[in-house]
Amino acid sequence: MTEPRKLLQGSTGDWEVVVGLEVHAQVSSTSKLFSGASAEYGAGPNENVSLVDAAMPGMLPVINKYCVEQAIRTGLGLNAKINLWSRFDRKNYFYPDLPQGYQISQFKDPIVGEGEIEVELDGGETINVGIERLHLEQDAGKSIHDLAPNASYVDLNRSGVALMEIVSKPELRSAEEGAAYFSKIRTIVRYLGTCDGNMEEGSMRADVNVSVRRPGEPLGTRTETKNVNSIRFTKQVIDFEARRQIEVLEAGGTIDQETLLFDPKTGETRTMRSKEDAHDYRYFPDPDLLPLEFDQAWVDEIRASLPELPDAKKHRFMDEYGLSPYDALVLAADQQKAAFFENVAKTRDGKLAANWVTGDLFGALNKDGLDIADSPISAKKLGQLIDLITDKTISGKIAKDVFALMFDGEETGDPAEIVEKRGLKQVTDTGAIEKVVDDIIAANPKQVEQVKEKPKTMGWFVGQVMKEMQGKANPQAVNEILKKKLGIE
Ligand code: MN
Repeated sequence: MTEPRKLLQGSTGDWEVVVGLEVHAQVSSTSKLFSGASAEYGAGPNENVSLVDAAMPGMLPVINKYCVEQAIRTGLGLNAKINLWSRFDRKNYFYPDLPQGYQISQFKDPIVGEGEIEVELDGGETINVGIERLHLEQDAGKSIHDLAPNASYVDLNRSGVALMEIVSKPELRSAEEGAAYFSKIRTIVRYLGTCDGNMEEGSMRADVNVSVRRPGEPLGTRTETKNVNSIRFTKQVIDFEARRQIEVLEAGGTIDQETLLFDPKTGETRTMRSKEDAHDYRYFPDPDLLPLEFDQAWVDEIRASLPELPDAKKHRFMDEYGLSPYDALVLAADQQKAAFFENVAKTRDGKLAANWVTGDLFGALNKDGLDIADSPISAKKLGQLIDLITDKTISGKIAKDVFALMFDGEETGDPAEIVEKRGLKQVTDTGAIEKVVDDIIAANPKQVEQVKEKPKTMGWFVGQVMKEMQGKANPQAVNEILKKKLGIE
């Protein structure tokens, strides 16, 4: 068991929050797990339903090899053990949107076993979180209760869509850790291309298990909040449940093992049903499906095709470009952002490139609600702009002006052309700077007297020179000349 990291204060002492997440990630596959029906989002009601999905008598499931491959890819991305032998089980229960009367899932022998991932927290701290397993299962359909006053409808489009259920060990210790873990899982599956991570379309959702205990004591009774479909809500659920359970326990009550629903409007959870145990589902191996059995060679082949994963990329950015862990994390969190950065940074100062990309560029994109793919400034042009600073053609301040002109579309040429056309080249000619400095010194005797006592006020002179020269004077040269002329050490 991990050491208590974070504790919540109750009225009778400290509590440790214990969180585990079951993330359901829809496999990016055009067809379903056991049928050839389309798995695409957004079709009209019951348009994507085959006879298998509708559980017509005599229909038999046929495994989708592509989905199996995506589960293996994901398992490898979670640094987890791939089980060369696994099988499907029936999880029996009745729901109107589950025509089979059971869900085909994996119980005792999942396709992926234990793993571990790195999770970065806000303060820059990194924790390792254990993965318990990943199994493949089919999604259910959807009951719709608000179309008619006296009837409910069932849409089976989702019925049979392939899900990967990724189960963490109960090693998360706060709302922040739960949210950061969910976010990291999303980043990993998006990198791998095994799930699109689109939460609004329901491609990812989490069942959030929360319990509390006194530090050092055995695990408390947990509640499970179902189908939480955003990272922000996950955080809210953990916060709310932890506080609620502490209050109940401190008042002398007990926690019921329950399945809950989260209401985003109130920020609270409410009871959906009392929680069943695994044995209630009467799991048994599905007799319609053979066990999944494959060679290590196939797993190795899939491993060889994996892209560089976020953690590896983050560490490489730190080593290769000298980035801070924070900048490296921000850039590695998204493949497109990472690629953009590398296009800017190669052959240039990595830290300077990271400053421009994460600061100026991401700031401007955020402000306009734009994606990196829609950036008005290409990586090539941003790189060229940085080159102009490095070779002292322009100052950093002028570069920001040029950046704004390019970002707003006022200028469409190369940075060098814009600088030339607008006469923004830095003045390094010391004679020209000296002349301006002399004039300003002559016109401001009072300030000259003051700066001799308080050398810090030299900034005022720098400002005057820059103003006079429209920001184009080389700042270093201005400082040196001023110091010399004002007699400041
Ligand atoms: Mn599940």
